[in-house]
Amino acid sequence: MHLQAFGAARSVTGSMHLLEANGKRILLDCGLFQGHREEAFKKNRHLPFPVESIDAVILSHAHIDHSGNLPSLARLGYKGPIYSTFASRDLCSSMLQDSAKLQEKDLEYVNNRRIKKGLPLFNPLYSLRNVIETIQMFHGLGFDTPHEILPGIQLIFRKAGHILGAAMVELNIQEEGKNSRFVFTGDLGRKDMPILPDPYQFKTTDVLLMESTYGDRLHEPLEDIDKQLEDIIREAIEKKSKIIIPAFAVDRTQTFVYRLHKLCNEGRCGHIPIYVDSPLALNVTEAYRLHTEGLDEETIQFMVNNGDPFGFDRLTYIRTTQESKNLNNLKGPMIIISASGMCEGGRILHHLRNNIENPNNIILMIGYVAEHTLGRKILDREPEVKILGEPHELKAKVVMINSFSGHADKNELLEFLKGFDTHPGKIFIVHGEESQSLAFAQTLETMGYTNVSVPFPEERFDITQA
Ligand SMILES: [Zn+2]
Ligand SMILES: [Zn+2]
Repeated sequence: MHLQAFGAARSVTGSMHLLEANGKRILLDCGLFQGHREEAFKKNRHLPFPVESIDAVILSHAHIDHSGNLPSLARLGYKGPIYSTFASRDLCSSMLQDSAKLQEKDLEYVNNRRIKKGLPLFNPLYSLRNVIETIQMFHGLGFDTPHEILPGIQLIFRKAGHILGAAMVELNIQEEGKNSRFVFTGDLGRKDMPILPDPYQFKTTDVLLMESTYGDRLHEPLEDIDKQLEDIIREAIEKKSKIIIPAFAVDRTQTFVYRLHKLCNEGRCGHIPIYVDSPLALNVTEAYRLHTEGLDEETIQFMVNNGDPFGFDRLTYIRTTQESKNLNNLKGPMIIISASGMCEGGRILHHLRNNIENPNNIILMIGYVAEHTLGRKILDREPEVKILGEPHELKAKVVMINSFSGHADKNELLEFLKGFDTHPGKIFIVHGEESQSLAFAQTLETMGYTNVSVPFPEERFDITQA
């Protein structure tokens, strides 16, 4: 058996790993690289293997940094299958269509500049047709349901508790008479998070491919969030601020809306109007309503008692561009939740452009932002940031609430490992900025874990069991 990490190796985005077993080649995730425009552009366009050499694709979850380059497989002639949970399939249907549109738009901007410079134009990374072809290749599987995907290779999706439908990938492999287990955490969620079930606890595995986004960091305790939010809302009401919240359309928006719903039920958010301005978030919210198999018991109980967790009288979902533009003319206080979370595209750019220079406004960051993204630049409070190609002074107040993270932090990652009966035979640390992954590997080594590696991109490992 061999393992090669093509993406999210000593970095966070572009999750993509190749597992070779029984003479078959299985691609784990096919995510989009985000960040530095030119570098991402090159990496996303050139897949590091011929697509016809891939026998099966397994998708851990629908986030674009894991699923966003699947349509490139279709564009290059891959004929399937792509295994995922049912919810991931439905989420990908909306999210990849949105991604195709975003990329076309993004390219419009790049191509306009190229026209001015007399340079040849680029084609989009993939088309809507490629997305539709991709969705047709999906095979939905339920959680905890074994399925033989290739001779001697059994796949079981286990709950990851990260977003709706997010799975850890368990592969039970029979190779040359030997049985071995391979586990890929995808993105590992957290216990006791709103909406989502707790992550599944494995007891043994021979090989563990593990994320490390927060390999060397801890989240703030969860109980502070409501108080922090209440304070920010009170400040906004006093100053008539607009609170601009860049949020991933998937999960972060639903979690946040559910939290606001509960806060408003407790009479803790005054009369502030709340707008969710993201057509994608609307479609994703529908998937959350539909896939109750992916919700936790508390949310189901809330539904039974209060009705829709994702809708209440103070909240307006914005669909059309005109409605979105109208928000500019409304006076604060108000909350605008819009995508994308890293501020790399979507309607959030317009809201930032219109509100970032007013010191009365508040930009509330509620999620992880990768290096080199506009979101990170705002979080780092750079005095001037470029939005849609134009420089803007960052005068609005920037606040971060870290605790909404859907990723396990250092202690939670360690707790997950301590839940095993025996140490995994080999551990590969991926999906973290290099410093996070290296620090986490070092922590594991001092705790007595052996065979811990932090792969370089494209580095190939023999993981045959002794
Ligand atoms: Zn994720
Ligand atoms: Zn991820």
